[in-house]
Amino acid sequence: MEFFSNLKRRYNALIKESAVPLMQSRIKILAFGLGLLMLLIATILILLISSGKTAIMIRLIFLLLTLLYASYLLLYKAKWRNAAHILLIALSLFILTNILMYKHGINMVTFQLSIIIISASFYILGKNWGIMYSAINIMPIIITFTMTRAQGGSIYLSDAEVSSNTFMLCLVFNFILLVLMQYEFFKSFYQSQIKERELNHQLQSALKEAQEATRMRADFLSSMSHELRTPLHAVIGMTNVLSIENPRKDQEENLAILRFSSENLLALINDTLDFSKMNADKIVLNKADFNLTLLVQNINATFHTKAEQKGIILKLTSDFEDQPLFVKGDQTRLTQILNNLVSNAVKFTDTGGLVEMSISTTARTAEKITLLFTVKDDGIGIPANKHDTVFEPFLQANNNITKRYGGTGLGLSIVKRLIELHGSKLKLDSKENVGSTFSFDISYELAAIQEIMPVAVSAASTADISGLNILIAEDNIVNIMVLKKILEQWDCDYSIAKNGLEALEMVKAGSFDIVLMDIHMPVMDGFEAARHIREIPDIRLSKIKIIALTASSDVDIQQSFSYAYLDDYLTKPFRPDLLKKKLEECLSGGA
Ligand code: ADP
Repeated sequence: MEFFSNLKRRYNALIKESAVPLMQSRIKILAFGLGLLMLLIATILILLISSGKTAIMIRLIFLLLTLLYASYLLLYKAKWRNAAHILLIALSLFILTNILMYKHGINMVTFQLSIIIISASFYILGKNWGIMYSAINIMPIIITFTMTRAQGGSIYLSDAEVSSNTFMLCLVFNFILLVLMQYEFFKSFYQSQIKERELNHQLQSALKEAQEATRMRADFLSSMSHELRTPLHAVIGMTNVLSIENPRKDQEENLAILRFSSENLLALINDTLDFSKMNADKIVLNKADFNLTLLVQNINATFHTKAEQKGIILKLTSDFEDQPLFVKGDQTRLTQILNNLVSNAVKFTDTGGLVEMSISTTARTAEKITLLFTVKDDGIGIPANKHDTVFEPFLQANNNITKRYGGTGLGLSIVKRLIELHGSKLKLDSKENVGSTFSFDISYELAAIQEIMPVAVSAASTADISGLNILIAEDNIVNIMVLKKILEQWDCDYSIAKNGLEALEMVKAGSFDIVLMDIHMPVMDGFEAARHIREIPDIRLSKIKIIALTASSDVDIQQSFSYAYLDDYLTKPFRPDLLKKKLEECLSGGA
């Protein structure tokens, strides 16, 4: 009794261990198959004791011992595969000897056994072993059929067998075994399906939860970045104001540190915001007309001072030179790509170096143009084994980079994704201590040349801006304060409009030279106001110069940005010298 309860415990443990329904049914089929066959053989042996059929009894004893060994492997060693092979090989050998002994064809029990082997091998050991055991068992049966057909060989059930108790017992037992095996397998198959459906359901809800969490994280990052940017703009703006109020030498140094740190923090916030948007697949390219010539000139102008301060020559070459090139596309994103690449080139090039941004036409039809953009420097370069890692988020070519040059390691991964969004690829060619070349091409649809020609910022402009009458359309008090202080320094006159509508009314009524138009404004935004100004019937008023003030990576707003109504733009927080240059250009352009 103890022995049997021990067997039962082991069997239950084995079933419990295999959590998958299919695996459980494999163990069940194997255990019951072994148990039933051993019971059958033992019964037949008892029935045959007095019959004197020694040959068959020896075979049955041998088979019984083998099955006992297989049961031991299964229950005591948990080696179900080995147990299955032993069972199947033993039964296959039994069939082979049956075929050799009964020469008139295949008897019914032999045929049943071969079907049991074929089904069991597929169910327990899988497809490949199933095919192998099927071949081993079917081949001798087919050969026997073919050889005995002439003598009337068939699957037979003789009268003697029908009247033999042992034979009939085998027949019934085998049928029961077959039916149980099919039932068990179907049950496990059905359970697997239910479990699979349940798992699928769980997976779906887990996926939903993960997507929701990602969305919430992106929203959080996005609103945090927006909230952080506003006070930071004020910090940078006030630093700029202090810088132009004739600070002492020691104050100048402190202000430089303050500006450097706040600008770095702003870049980090902007990159993080962009990166989170990209991860949430929230970035869609905008398609609007823009002047590519102006865009690259502006980028060149933005980095001019920085390059000069570092003693680096910054060169811009393009095969359309100063000719305006109007295309349809996303100028904000192109600006972002080029800004990042030029900023890196300037950052990683030491005094005396050369940074060159070049744009060349690789193909042009009446409707389309393909441009190759290249940003080349002769700076510190990137070692060959880091050519892939620099495009990974937060990774830099070496750990000392952050200490020496600053940066987050996000820029290139953003640039790479943005270029991929344009259907292109960013290429890198770089050698350590020789320099780096980043290049990519983009195809743009050509746009009609716009009537209003925006004015580019060039390094050489000398128009006198004192006495200029400027309308500041801005709702943020700190920004107004910063602008007021800057304009007072240059002896400019100014008036304030708190929203787009006020600005429109003031332009209609007043005699301003230039409007500095914020884009984010209540009542009427900057775009709307600019459009209405252009529609004023009095041409002297409608042609007024409008410089837009946009938040740096304010993608959502800039997605709908059209410069058709605007003469130029400045990204906030801007440096006073850049604003001054733009005002001077406007003045000389308008003269
Ligand atoms: P960051 O500049 O903020 O560190 P990026 O993603 O823009 O992040 O660049 C990743 C790294 O690639 C940089 O830290 C630097 O090691 C390397 N790198 C990028 N551009 C250049 C370049 N023009 N010359 C040398 N190394 C560069």
